Order: sequence, then C-alpha cells, then structure tokens
Amino acid sequence: MKLVVTGGAGYIGSVVTSQLLDAGHDVTVVDDLSTGHEDAVPPGATFVRARIHDIGDHLDGADGVLHFAAKSLVGESVESPELYWENNVVGSFALLEAVRAAGVPRFVFSSTAACYGEPDVSPITEDVTPAPINPYGHSKYAVDLMLTGYARAHGLGATSLRYFNVGGARGRFGERHAVETHLIPNVLMVPAGKRERMNIFGDDYDTPDGTAVRDYLHVVDLGRAHLLALDTSEAGRHRVFNLGSGTGYSVREVLDTCRSVTDHDIPADAQPRRPGDPTTLVASSARARAELGWSPEYGIDEIVTDAWDFMRSGVAAERS
Ligand code: UDP
Repeated sequence: MKLVVTGGAGYIGSVVTSQLLDAGHDVTVVDDLSTGHEDAVPPGATFVRARIHDIGDHLDGADGVLHFAAKSLVGESVESPELYWENNVVGSFALLEAVRAAGVPRFVFSSTAACYGEPDVSPITEDVTPAPINPYGHSKYAVDLMLTGYARAHGLGATSLRYFNVGGARGRFGERHAVETHLIPNVLMVPAGKRERMNIFGDDYDTPDGTAVRDYLHVVDLGRAHLLALDTSEAGRHRVFNLGSGTGYSVREVLDTCRSVTDHDIPADAQPRRPGDPTTLVASSARARAELGWSPEYGIDEIVTDAWDFMRSGVAAERS
C-alpha cells in the first residue's frame, strides 16, 4: 500500500515505518521535526518536513494514513493546554479534512490509555467510558470522537489504537526524547552513567509494594497491531482497540528487571507521587486479540533488554 506516516521521525512512528517498509509498503513520512530526528526516519521512506496542518498534496493517491504526530507529555499539557489543542486537535482536524479531500480510505490513529482517566476497574476494556483527566487525554479523545463522526458520515475506515505503556526498541529505532519522563529510559540512565539515582514517584499507593502499576508493551508488538489494523480496516467503521500485555508491573518490579538486565544496583529514592498518576492501568486486549488476531510476543525482560541495547549503542539485534 501507499502510506503516509505522520510523526515518522519520532519513537513509535520510526519503529512502525521500519516495519511497514519491511512488509513491502511504500511510505512517506511527514514530520515537522519539532521533537523527532531526521536521522530516525528509516532509509527507504520518503521524508517531507511539514506540519500536519499543512500536509498539502502529500496525501494524493494514498491508501492509508498512520497518524503518530502529537504532543505527548501530560505535565506539559497541564501547563500549556493550548499546545495540545493546537497541535493534537486543530492539527488532526486539518489532517482529517485533507484525508477527506484526497479520498484516503484508511486511517490509523495513536490514541492512549489516558482517555480512560482514573478508572476503578482493572483490566480496562474498551467499554469503559472515557473520562480523561488532563489536556493530553482530552486532546486524544477529541480526535477519537472526530474519527467516529468521519467514519459514519464520510465512509472512512478508522482505527484508534489506545496504547498503554510502550517500551523497548527495534534495532536503531528507539526512544530519544529531549525531555525524558518515562520510567524505563529514566531508570536506564543510571547504569548508562547519565544520572546517579532514580526517583520512585510514590511508594504509598494501594498496590502490593506501594508503587504504581502499569502495563508495558514492546514497541515491536505495538507496531504489528498497526499493520493488522490497516489490513482489516473496514470502510465506514471506527474501531477502538486497547493495546497492552494484560499484565501489570509495579515501578519496583520494573526497577528490579532493569537491575538484573544491566547488572547494576541502580540506587532509587522514594519521592512524592507525580500529580495525575493513576494507581493502576492494565489493559484488556481481548478485543484486539479477537478482531485483529494480535497478541504480544515479548515481555518486560525483552522490553528492558532492547531499550538498554538501544541506549548503549543505538544498534541492537532487530526483533521482527
Ligand atoms: N515513574 C517513576 N520514576 C520515573 C518515571 C516514572 O517512578 O522516573 C513512574 C510514574 O510515576 C508512573 C510509572 O512510573 O507510575 C510509569 O510512568 P511513565 O511516565 O513511564 O508512563 P505513564 O504511565 O505516566 O504514561
């Protein structure tokens, strides 16, 4: 297929672009390089430096759009909600209008577990009513709602993939954020010599060891779900899938995995909770398993091993 990937110079977008190219697709990456890196765009993809607001005629003849480009920091979204409405909502609206004008039949969107806010059920199914609690979650859910309307009114085959916690790398494609807020890369900075200790944000949660529980998914498994979503897309239907492993790990369990993978004792300090962090977020991916035929192949050990190899060398054995 002829595909356009927005945000293909970023972490997840570059990994999925590499998988799409390996599967034989023709890929154009559109990225404004506001947070992405041009050298992360996989060789073989055509690169266009542009905002999603100004996608112009780059969608002509496309069979599908995979839309990763977004602002994605919860804390920043609380401080500067306008950035999230302008980039994620206004930008996605402009992109969808361009999709409609060009008659592109398939659209796969990076949605998020943040749509669910702080649900009191676990695991979280797609039937849980979205109730986002910060502008990042609001902005992503707003686009999900747009897709429902565009599918119904204009026949778009749309899929929202609600990511839980994503980690790991695919060879030289991995996580390179200027401001790193995520747990695994932050922990690995200690054995990498980039910081002395790591912080545990909250050790008084109502969980077995007091630290928050999340569902970590390998980026390669996440990427495979995008290819399946494209292949199974149906005109006029908006589908929503939660993507996670179905297993929760506490911050301390992730820290222990990092210690054993790196063979470093990684000193850690308990700090106050990070505002807005829910206690537990674990996905039910039963729907993705049933309708996409998807299931994750890799676990927390591979996630940490591949993130560590990426951080050390930028080059690691590829998982297909
Ligand atoms: N966390 C932590 N120390 C860090 C970074 C994150 O204890 O240096 C915790 C964070 O409070 C949350 C979990 O690790 O409970 C996962 O955070 P992350 O930012 O990776 O993903 P989120 O679940 O917030 O999207």
